This record gives sequence, C-alpha cells and structure tokens, in this order.
Amino acid sequence: MNHAKRLLLANRAWSQEVSARDPGFFERLACGQQPRILWIGCSDSRVPAERITNAQPGELFVHRNIANLYTSDDGNTSSVIEYALHALHVEHIVICGHHHCGGVRAALTAPSDSLPAVNRRIAGLRELAERHRDALNAIDDIEARVDRLVELNVIEQVRLLRESPIVRSAPHRPALHGWVFGLRQGLLTSLTDAGEAPQPVKLLRDAA
Ligand SMILES: [Zn+2]
Repeated sequence: MNHAKRLLLANRAWSQEVSARDPGFFERLACGQQPRILWIGCSDSRVPAERITNAQPGELFVHRNIANLYTSDDGNTSSVIEYALHALHVEHIVICGHHHCGGVRAALTAPSDSLPAVNRRIAGLRELAERHRDALNAIDDIEARVDRLVELNVIEQVRLLRESPIVRSAPHRPALHGWVFGLRQGLLTSLTDAGEAPQPVKLLRDAA
C-alpha cells in the first residue's frame, strides 16, 4: 500500500474511533474554533505540535515552517499571526524549535545551489549565527553547535515577535513562550520565563 493511501485509511479508523468514544465530537468541531494558543513550530516531521502536546483538534492554531522563523516581511507567517491575534484572540504564542533541526544546521553550512528558496528563508538565521560566531565556534561537536543555535534562534524569534507591530497592536497582548523539543527524550523545555521576558540564554546543554 502506498503511503498516501495508508493515511486515508488511518483517517477513517481515527474518525470511527473518535465517534465511538464521543458521538458529538465532530458536530461540536464543525461549530467553530476557539483555540487559546498559536503554535509556531518547525515543519520537521518529527515535531507534530498536537501529537507531542496531546492536544485535541480545536486546541492549537498552528503554523509551521522551516526552522520556526518569523520575519515581518513574510506574508504567510504574518497572516497566521494576524488572524490568531485579531480574529481568534489567542492568549499565548508558542515558538517551538527542536534539537537536530535541519534548517538550523543548514545555516551553519555553505548555501546549497539546489535550495534557493530555503537559502532565502534562512538568511536571518545565518545572520544570527554570525552574531554568535565565537560562542558557536567554541563548541567542537557539530550537533551540539546546531542545538545551541536552535536555542538561540527560539530566543531570537520570541524577541522579534515581541517587538513586532503585529503583536504590539493586538487587542490583547499575548504571552510569548520560547520552547525547545528534545528529540531524544521527547520533552519540551521552556527557554523563557513563564512566557514573559526571555531570560539570558541559559543553554540546555550547559545545564545537563
Ligand atoms: Zn527543524
């Protein structure tokens, strides 16, 4: 069976299972959404927002892109944030990065000629790496270096969002959270203080 067909079959089984457990579930789902959280995560297949947080349909308003980046000139990300804040009135924004991120790793290597869109997308990430060049170069292990940039990137995206007009003009200012997902343990860790001001970067590898 091909992979796409398997998904369709799995969906049928899931729908039947949910209906059996909660007959009114899909009727309620069709009435509208009122998510309290906007999740901005990486597109990486290993970090599915709802699955790793045990969230149900309707709980998370989700946007994912390579390396969980926000830039004010990105109409796609901006439209999601605008709708979340100005129409859905979400109370929290979670920026979630993850260790072993391929997008972040790409920012530490030479640009690939075959990936021009990705190169444009991660230009800001390269600049961030350059700003922290000395600290990053002091880390011998390449995977540890990637993970450190992952964490720096989450902190940076929270800062950019906090200072963005789109957040500052929201009718209700959301709490901002910077999280990182550790693939080896399957655990989320907050890099920010209870959703308020980002802390001085205290890296997870340092604490371990
Ligand atoms: Zn990633």
